[in-house]
Amino acid sequence: MAKRSAEALGSDLPDGLARRLADQYGEDGLALIRQGFAEHRPVTLRANALKANAAAIAEQLDAAGIAWGRPPARALESTAFVVRGAREDAVRALAAYDEGALYLQSLSAMLPALALAPAAGENILDMAAAPGGKTCQMAALSGGEALICACEKNHVRAERLRHNLAKQGAARVNVMECDARKLDDFFSFDKVLLDAPCSGSGTVSLAGGTYRGGFSDELLARSVKAQRALLRKALDVLKPGGTLVYATCSILADENERMVESVLDEWNGRAAKARRKAGASPSSRAEAELAPLPANLMEGVPALPCRLPEAAVVRPTELFEGFFLARIEKGRA
Ligand code: SAM
Repeated sequence: MAKRSAEALGSDLPDGLARRLADQYGEDGLALIRQGFAEHRPVTLRANALKANAAAIAEQLDAAGIAWGRPPARALESTAFVVRGAREDAVRALAAYDEGALYLQSLSAMLPALALAPAAGENILDMAAAPGGKTCQMAALSGGEALICACEKNHVRAERLRHNLAKQGAARVNVMECDARKLDDFFSFDKVLLDAPCSGSGTVSLAGGTYRGGFSDELLARSVKAQRALLRKALDVLKPGGTLVYATCSILADENERMVESVLDEWNGRAAKARRKAGASPSSRAEAELAPLPANLMEGVPALPCRLPEAAVVRPTELFEGFFLARIEKGRA
């Protein structure tokens, strides 16, 4: 029997995915999503401010004859590039790529770090970090001055993470090769990024009339279970007054809106109980609630309807992959 790749191939979306998308977004929404999946997405990349500015990257692209443009999204327009008419190999041949001065990354994947807005001196946990695109971006956004713990449970992927951090010059990052669900509650972070493992329902492709993606009902069920445990732990290790960004490359409510709502409800219920028990004495179990995404973050980013007004679902298009992000803040106890 021929060896099967991790990606399923076919001519259309798996039934389980098409049905869920139609239930959630309606038939018109599904048609729009299908259109986005059918696009051939161009290569996109981000200048790594730890090594070079965007002007230096633009010069190298120009010198190599690689046509590029800026994405239409306001939050990305100063650091991101959309490469036109060249494939990844051409970018990988640039000196800037070898030097870690640029990072190949989807535009959607650049949004969560911007939503978290890491700053110098902050203690930040990146709970599901490999291969490290968002860890490196957070290091760059803080000018290399945030103290980042990057968790990854898969050994091979953790090695890749270490390699990328070294190459991108992200020095103040401590890699923890462990299961983030089992982190000790003793930890306490100013900010947490949970870029959760997911079904990948936002990143499947129908380009060229062929389905490429790893979606299955089993993967969805496994992802939901992992997301719930990871999000609970993220809230446990977030400082009172801290900020958490939850992101997935899925556009299904079970992994996104419903996940955030149900974990917050449960967590706040437990917090209220703990506060009652503590009486007048201070408790670390403050309420956690959804907070708006930073102003302008989603300007120019295509969106799907989202059941949570503070959060956003990115619509798959020619430029963007399907994605979800929500920002949560913990009150002060
Ligand atoms: N944030 C990464 C980036 O921007 O490059 C992508 C993260 S990917 C969506 C999810 C990662 O989480 C995978 O590398 C997976 O191995 C890891 N992972 C899954 N479950 C985990 C767990 N319980 N603890 C730590 N890492 C986990």
